[in-house]
Amino acid sequence: MSFTIYCMNKFPIILLLFTLLCCKAKPTPDNHSTTTKASFDSHVHIMSPDLISYWKSLGIPFSKSDAIYANVDTIMEINNADHINLIGMGYVFTSQEYYEGNDRYERMQKENNYLFESALKYPEQITPYFAIDPLQDFAVEELERCYGLFPESGVKLHFNASQVYLTEPVHLEKVSKVFKKSAEHDLPILLHFDNWHPKFGKRDLGIMMDTLLKDIPPVRLQIAHFGTSGGFNEKTKAFIDAFLELKDGNHFPEGHQIMFDISAVALDKDSEGVEALTDDGFKELRKYIDKIGIENIVFGTDYPLYAADEYYNILKEKVGLSEGELDKMNRIQ
Ligand SMILES: [Zn+2]
Repeated sequence: MSFTIYCMNKFPIILLLFTLLCCKAKPTPDNHSTTTKASFDSHVHIMSPDLISYWKSLGIPFSKSDAIYANVDTIMEINNADHINLIGMGYVFTSQEYYEGNDRYERMQKENNYLFESALKYPEQITPYFAIDPLQDFAVEELERCYGLFPESGVKLHFNASQVYLTEPVHLEKVSKVFKKSAEHDLPILLHFDNWHPKFGKRDLGIMMDTLLKDIPPVRLQIAHFGTSGGFNEKTKAFIDAFLELKDGNHFPEGHQIMFDISAVALDKDSEGVEALTDDGFKELRKYIDKIGIENIVFGTDYPLYAADEYYNILKEKVGLSEGELDKMNRIQ
């Protein structure tokens, strides 16, 4: 696969996956104001202590204490939104690149279980999104298991970690099963769509709209990071333009809800491999927010990258969104 051509060894891949998760994260309680402005954060990560120690054993640097990544009490205190979607990362265990053990399904299950245990501590405030690797034979089995444990949850898919190419008919068939099952159970899907193929973009979107979402019950689909892997650059703009072209061309599948989350897009600091926006970049982002329509955008931070209030203030001060606009994107689906 072409993936191996530009990612020759696994270490950089892990770092890039992890880029927006840990390395430059600086959420601190100092950022707290007494009144929380961001009431809902749709994109907050948690990882189990097992995952942290495994990645530490590979030499991945963690700049903060383990609790910031793994302890739900700490996450709720630092993030400080009233309600969050808590996003699991179990898909890393089924990736050849991120995990070397043979107990892949068991580790994925454990990671999803850890997510649910954490969410249960704040049942009124947390909606957990369990992780599935749609290419695994046990994908639907794990989805059913998680749905049985926690019906009020969502599904997280990461097409780079799982190396999903909708252009491959076998992949499309497998992903279709997961989408169909999620739709049947009314489980919202959070999709990290970007698989880093050089041609990723319009053709993948076309397949999603014309095939993947055809003939299944209505799905609530949240596309992470405005469609790419964080930051705001030519690739992000091309993805959004392609989406809007397809939508204008009547490819938008009836009945479904497709939202874009703005997490990790308005970067005011470099995050390893992804550049902070320039002043012009922030202005351009403002234009693209208007193009997408604020009603189609949902607030999210990619915590631990940012805390909710911290990112809310960036969107207000750097991007120039009004509090009214921010309130519109800052609501539970
Ligand atoms: Zn994320």
